Amino acid sequence: MRVVPVPCLKDNYAYLVCDGARAAVVDPSESAPVLAAAAREGVTLEQIWCTHHHLDHVGGVEDLQRALPGVAVVAHQSDAERKRVPCVTRAVADGDTVALGALQARVMHVPGHTTGAIAFVVGGAVFTGDTLFGAGCGRLFEGTPEMMHASLTRLGGLPGATQVYSGHEYTVSNLRFAAAVEPGSSAVTTRAEAAAAARAAGQPTVSTIADEQATNPFLRWGQPAVAAAARAAEPDVAAPGDAVALFAALRRWKDRF
Ligand code: ZN
Ligand code: FE
Repeated sequence: MRVVPVPCLKDNYAYLVCDGARAAVVDPSESAPVLAAAAREGVTLEQIWCTHHHLDHVGGVEDLQRALPGVAVVAHQSDAERKRVPCVTRAVADGDTVALGALQARVMHVPGHTTGAIAFVVGGAVFTGDTLFGAGCGRLFEGTPEMMHASLTRLGGLPGATQVYSGHEYTVSNLRFAAAVEPGSSAVTTRAEAAAAARAAGQPTVSTIADEQATNPFLRWGQPAVAAAARAAEPDVAAPGDAVALFAALRRWKDRF
């Protein structure tokens, strides 16, 4: 499997997922850069995988379907039923698999940012949309803190070596928040330096689940230092041992950071 990040809009990423000459595109917010990347890579786009219905993830779907007759469009069944993702040809639910050549992508339903959010787990990588970002997580537009906490816990439970490909390049600013949560963390400092260097070189920041476990505050509410920082920032957090409450406090803190 080969993954090709395709920068779109201001800070979005679409991704080509390639098995030889066959490819799927994850979250095409626009069509032109995706078609150009497919031509450059010499792959045929057979499928479109949509992590959620927001326009900055599906804005290019209709154009691509016109340009590529017969292309499959995969989205969560709730977004397909409500027609929030256009042109869906395959409605999926948690645990379903989507085949691309020899690759089998497993669908994980990860509600929180939106109720129909899904991640695709394939070939040692996970495409997380706006659920898990580099050193951060998406805002709760539709779901509850309970949902997002559960979704992030599942993503965080993937094997540590899993490559994380998210919907936006937010890592550098997310690490500023991570440093405020854990000021003494050398893992955060080291990652911030690497992320800044990657961006200065025009490269996407990349990470693994293990990197996220080490530096992403939204996977680290179980760490005493993170819990203490969250309670200090959001003093109304009631039960100190309540993981969902701690997650919600961290999210609120980040919202006003
Ligand atoms: Zn979104
Ligand atoms: Fe987005």
